Amino acid sequence: MKGIVYKSTGSWYSVKSEDGEFYDCRIKGKFRIKGIKSTNPIAVGDHVQFELETTNDVTTGVIDIIETRKNYIVRKSVNLSKQVHIIASNIDVVFLLVTIDNPVTTTSFIDRFLVTAEAYGIKTVLVFNKVDTFSEEALDEQLYLQYIYSQIGYECLRVSAMTGKGIEEVKERMKGNVSMFSGHSGVGKSTLINAIEPGLNLKTAEISQQHQQGQHTTTFAEMFDLSFDAQIIDTPGIRGFGIVDMEPQEVGDYFPEFFALKDQCKFNNCLHREEPQCAVKDALDDDLLAWSRYKSYIQILDGEDENYRTDVYKE
Ligand code: GDP
Ligand code: ZN
Repeated sequence: MKGIVYKSTGSWYSVKSEDGEFYDCRIKGKFRIKGIKSTNPIAVGDHVQFELETTNDVTTGVIDIIETRKNYIVRKSVNLSKQVHIIASNIDVVFLLVTIDNPVTTTSFIDRFLVTAEAYGIKTVLVFNKVDTFSEEALDEQLYLQYIYSQIGYECLRVSAMTGKGIEEVKERMKGNVSMFSGHSGVGKSTLINAIEPGLNLKTAEISQQHQQGQHTTTFAEMFDLSFDAQIIDTPGIRGFGIVDMEPQEVGDYFPEFFALKDQCKFNNCLHREEPQCAVKDALDDDLLAWSRYKSYIQILDGEDENYRTDVYKE
């Protein structure tokens, strides 16, 4: 039988089969995935194959195949530094909620998020929330950000989780997909999800800052079916994607507009800093690219942290 992992509690997995039934499954003996050193061999979102077994009238499943993941997000394991914990896999789209003020979402935060999502191979949609509260300046700022990010190719939506404006567009974008929601605390994730699917009470709320700094609690991600052919993965305790560990040469590849110009730089290993005849610097000078993006890029290269916690790492 084929199915998708909806929940995991250590050694047992709740798997929804193609016929819509849920089965409690475990893993066959020495089952290991090649290539990934993870503390958990199977994660929420995994597509698996399993066989049913009945013992004492109780039917359970035994997972023997895991299909290749299209992407996955991980967290570094607490004790075993070389190992990672796979939080979730096969994510179609992550909605990054952005507010102009209350709280302020900086371009630096947005860009770090986008770089990591690019590195993971996950599509991001920017959702500008709280449009009902916009002052004229806030509106200008939002439209400017929308201009920058849609130029680069990121979809942008404008919503008010409070009044319901734009909610249908979010639902439309979620249809047929496995989604995740992210963004600073207070941007309106819970309010938005509640507007999308009333009654679905996710634990999206982050665990408290204080708690989080002391220790890494185990994250139990969970997938939920919504009423309109959409799934959502809830990852309580994960505030967003932290910056992944990457080589300096790689960073520019995850800024799509820099990547597109890379071949035109004189040096093929150009970091777009002090190198002569750099196509990225030229485009910036001609105002064809956004300086805020370049600033974020340099910050990432220089490893500046900007109060950004690193919860999730690329393997
Ligand atoms: P979360 O931490 O991201 O889950 O944010 P919440 O959903 O808890 O929202 C934080 C605060 O912002 C709450 O007081 C919400 O009522 C408020 N809020 C959320 N969305 C909107 C919106 O679209 N407009 C306005 N005016 N307030 C909102
Ligand atoms: Zn360059």
